[in-house]
Amino acid sequence: MFTAVVVQLFCLFMTVDFATGEQRRTKNLILITLDGLRWQELFGGADQRLMTKATGGVRDVESLKRRFWADDNAERREQLLPYFWRTIAKEGQVLGDISVDCHVRVTNGRYFSYPGYSEILCGFPDSKINSNAKRYNKNVTVLEWLHRRPEYKGRVAAFTSWDVFPYIINDKRSGIYINAGWRELEFFADKQREVEWNDLARTLPKYWPGVRYDVFTSAGALEYLKTQRPRVLYVALGETDDWAHDGRYDLYLDAANRSDRIIQDLWETAQSLESHRNCTSMVITTDHGRGDDREGWKSHGILQAGSDHIWIAVLGPDTPALGIRRNMEVTQSQVAATVAQLLGEDYSAVNTQIGSPLPGVVRQLENTKRE
Ligand SMILES: [Zn+2]
Repeated sequence: MFTAVVVQLFCLFMTVDFATGEQRRTKNLILITLDGLRWQELFGGADQRLMTKATGGVRDVESLKRRFWADDNAERREQLLPYFWRTIAKEGQVLGDISVDCHVRVTNGRYFSYPGYSEILCGFPDSKINSNAKRYNKNVTVLEWLHRRPEYKGRVAAFTSWDVFPYIINDKRSGIYINAGWRELEFFADKQREVEWNDLARTLPKYWPGVRYDVFTSAGALEYLKTQRPRVLYVALGETDDWAHDGRYDLYLDAANRSDRIIQDLWETAQSLESHRNCTSMVITTDHGRGDDREGWKSHGILQAGSDHIWIAVLGPDTPALGIRRNMEVTQSQVAATVAQLLGEDYSAVNTQIGSPLPGVVRQLENTKRE
């Protein structure tokens, strides 16, 4: 009873679909991507074949096994991604487990980052996007589509480890705030902490010139969430992909494990804010899969079989707690319309090439009375 009252107090602005009279609790949305994190690790945890020096460039096999190995599959994936499996998979939904015939496929035919992020954010593949070059996206993302509305103006933001995102989201045209790559962090409540984070970023070796460490992306996004209260926050983490390309399976697993903690921090921070508590949904996915053998895991693309297979997870007050979804065939192109549908908007109506929302992810509320 008390909970119901509290929910109403904090989420007074429930979205109403005027066509159907449906109501949704989601007012804010957090979209998170983990670059190139394979479904193999998401559903199966650490891959035993790759936990060696020869196949995975692992520096300390015993310590890696102590942290991430368990014989039981469920236990093993929970060790790698504890928050994901203990909370999101129980209270939300996870799509992409091929062992139960749930297939999430990339449809752009390229299976690398720019085409993948554009497909996620725009809701359709574009065959003209054929490189990761810093070229402004001609297509409009669901973020920009939302941002054009007065109620979202200045309330959509992106924090990304990779410095190509300002081009993918086309910050010049969309006007969306994007903090990408090694750009300085801002919007901290405590300016001294802001200075310290930026000093640290300047001082650390830049292992990848175009990708900052995810800890900076996460710190900036968390502060922005607390101080600016965006309605739509996109957080794109990048380290999983880069450590895999560098052939370091130990650091790839570490990055996945840290990403899990970042997801938890973002969710718990949202729940700590009156503006976001009980009226925020979270969608998590990846831009592409990777290969599957001793060498293939490091890379992805048209030549690496399996790169088209990805996964999606959703958590929030409008998503039935169905856990691992079964017997489905869906695509990366359906993420954008799902993001919009959670916010009560029909993005797939914009044009016919946009994928429809993922079935069963947003609770149908036709029979619910207005509160
Ligand atoms: Zn890559």
